[in-house]
Amino acid sequence: MDFDTPLAEAWVRAIAAAVEKEQGRLTELDSAIGDGDHGSNLQRGFAAVLTALDGLQPAGPGAVLTKTGTTLISKVGGASGPLYGKAFRAIGAALPEPAGPAALAEALAAGLDAIRALGKAEPGDKTIVDAYTPAVAAFRTAAATGATLPEAAAAAADAADQGAHATIPLRARKGRASYLGERSIGHQDPGATSTALIFRTLADITTS
Ligand code: ADP
Ligand code: MG
Repeated sequence: MDFDTPLAEAWVRAIAAAVEKEQGRLTELDSAIGDGDHGSNLQRGFAAVLTALDGLQPAGPGAVLTKTGTTLISKVGGASGPLYGKAFRAIGAALPEPAGPAALAEALAAGLDAIRALGKAEPGDKTIVDAYTPAVAAFRTAAATGATLPEAAAAAADAADQGAHATIPLRARKGRASYLGERSIGHQDPGATSTALIFRTLADITTS
């Protein structure tokens, strides 16, 4: 299985559905250590992405993800909009057509680089980076050892879940949650949680 245009579209549509479903949980997490808008930010952003995709005749899987990123940047005001927006644009720009597991791993890594270039967060700062970094590492390792796309995506999703869960004891050093200092300890980071959701969605659509 390669990551082609229909799969790219299916992924983005599935993210929109997952965000819609998990909006309440994401907002609850952001209410604890932020301003309570992470779920609605992503819901609004991905709803706009669906509309943008409806009118698009994409030239390849990269074009789908580039459009996704551009739309998120223009529609989401919070920190997560530009961060995810830049990530999807970078993934789209890096993606050959069609992409096998190793090429997709490298494109996803380009997305992480974009997030780090913009947000300057290190692993351990209690952000998106804490779920995204282990997900890329797991995807790469799986792809390098001959895993199929569904297998690599499942390994990445598991690693992202663990990374998101591991943000609970961390003290936030970037974004709004960092204003809370010690009081950010004991809560799972909303952005790391949505990143885990995005990787789980990729695993789900490649397996079904
Ligand atoms: P805002 O913080 O502007 O309200 P959101 O609530 O949509 O935006 O997103 C919050 C999430 O953004 C945080 O949980 C965190 O994971 C992520 N985030 C914030 N700043 C950074 C950063 N500099 N680098 C990576 N992720 C970040
Ligand atoms: Mg917020």
